[in-house]
Amino acid sequence: MKCAIVPVTPFQQNCSVIWSETTKEGAVVDPGGDPERVLAAVETHDVRLTKILITHGHVDHAAATADLAEALSLPIEGPHKADKFWIDALPEAAARYGFPPARAFTPDRWLVGGDTVTLGDLTLDVIHCPGHTPGHVVFLHRPSRLALVGDVLFQGSIGRTDFPQGDHEALIRSIRDRLFPLGDDIVFVPGHGPTSTFGAERRSNPYVSDLAVGAA
Ligand SMILES: [Zn+2]
Ligand SMILES: [Zn+2]
Repeated sequence: MKCAIVPVTPFQQNCSVIWSETTKEGAVVDPGGDPERVLAAVETHDVRLTKILITHGHVDHAAATADLAEALSLPIEGPHKADKFWIDALPEAAARYGFPPARAFTPDRWLVGGDTVTLGDLTLDVIHCPGHTPGHVVFLHRPSRLALVGDVLFQGSIGRTDFPQGDHEALIRSIRDRLFPLGDDIVFVPGHGPTSTFGAERRSNPYVSDLAVGAA
């Protein structure tokens, strides 16, 4: 699986275009804004979009979803239904943070942990990682050792949990019990900032390292 990162919105959210090298079929993950920049990357890499994937319902990740899905007739998969209240609040959130007008939407498919998402000949695993938001999901392509983790985990940090239905303990469990066991070698694209590996965060992340949680 190939991945091109396109930072979008004033929040520099890492929207990603992912695709199969074999079939060129691909998806946009978390189109929070700046759709023209996302589509330029799609064109550069000669990707044929077949769906839109959403990790969670925050405005910087999902604001352009409805417009993009409608313009390109693409189905939307994700997040988990527990994020419906965030998606329903997109119009207000867009106004509050100075985004262009955004519409709420209903995904064609809500996801749950253990689901798989297909892109051409690729199969991605869906991991439900509540904490930052209750319906946050992570997409993992095991053969490429690459995960798209949204705002669950960052290089040297973790997602905020001071939002409605945020849960710090749940977030730590999501990372420690559901992500780190996938392997130290997994490279992850976070929702903001540089990529890292699960192993590097397990060693040195001040919030979730082995030392930080007393597992060393
Ligand atoms: Zn978020
Ligand atoms: Zn974000």
